[in-house]
Amino acid sequence: MKTNILATADLLSDQDLLVRLGVLAGNEREASVELLAHLATLDSRPSVYAAYGYGSLFSYCTQALRLSEDAACNRIEAARVCRRFPVILDLLASGEVTLTSVRLLGRHLTPDNHQAVLARASGRSRQQIETLVAELAPRPDVPSSVRKLPTFRAMPSAAAAPAPAASSLSSEPMAALAPSPAALIPTPRPIVRATAPERYRVQFTIGAESHQRLRRLQALLRREIPDGDPGAIVERALALLLEKVEKTKLGAAARPRPYPSIRPGTDRPAVRSRDVPRAVKRAAWRRDAGQCAFVFFTGRRCTERIFLEFYYVQAYAKQGPATVGNISLRCWRHNQYEAELIFGPHPQEANDKRGAGDG
Ligand SMILES: [Zn+2]
Repeated sequence: MKTNILATADLLSDQDLLVRLGVLAGNEREASVELLAHLATLDSRPSVYAAYGYGSLFSYCTQALRLSEDAACNRIEAARVCRRFPVILDLLASGEVTLTSVRLLGRHLTPDNHQAVLARASGRSRQQIETLVAELAPRPDVPSSVRKLPTFRAMPSAAAAPAPAASSLSSEPMAALAPSPAALIPTPRPIVRATAPERYRVQFTIGAESHQRLRRLQALLRREIPDGDPGAIVERALALLLEKVEKTKLGAAARPRPYPSIRPGTDRPAVRSRDVPRAVKRAAWRRDAGQCAFVFFTGRRCTERIFLEFYYVQAYAKQGPATVGNISLRCWRHNQYEAELIFGPHPQEANDKRGAGDG
């Protein structure tokens, strides 16, 4: 029971408590450095996590190692920097630099400057590191601009404010709401958050042109959407856009063409082409539900949904047909991994193996 640890800590004298904390912080740094070193090694062996059904080092860190998304990003980035400059592992272990410093400085370190920069970063706060980064990679001044900024009425924090029952959009210009210089706020980051089963609150900022389009749609759809609910309009717009994008990406058609003609007595197309026919792409995408279909023998399926590719289960080079039964979705990593199993390491990949890994 971990609650015993709390009881034990409560029994320590003040002096012993401070000593113990010092030891624990040191242990944590040591463990963290060891984790980074091992992550750097795994990063250079992508086929290892791919074999276990993970499409990226990030997926492995968050799903297998149960790191938070932020922790995984920080550690992967720091591990890659440590691979380039292993001396950083010592600085991290001694507490001279922190993970955050390494992450912020990482991309600005070079073989020529790293010793001097790391010496200057020793024992510095995050703000001081950011100043150091600005010195290493100065950015041009932000060009002057005049723009209308949103204002808001004094109100409790957004978290405390009750969520509106339905989406609302005031027809008054924002500036009409008690403008005050102190009330100027930067454009909030977009929010998509579940509010109830099957209901999501979406919040974002749009430009004047989009605002005009919304107004026109509210007017045109007055009969179908009497209250002009922007949420209902966005739902319709999303459905239309998705249909259009799918048509481009997957070749979805209003009247899908039939599968290509099949050579008699086989399941192979009469004309052999590397291109996967649109109808096959659509069917494979639907069957695999837009997710990498690589499955590890434990039954664990890869969770990647981006950078998906159409994969020939029986390789094209080995006369694999472009049929629904032979085409399956794979993330980029698993497409590479399975190709390597059949054809051996990609020459470029083999060269990179001892290098920085898969970026
Ligand atoms: Zn995958």
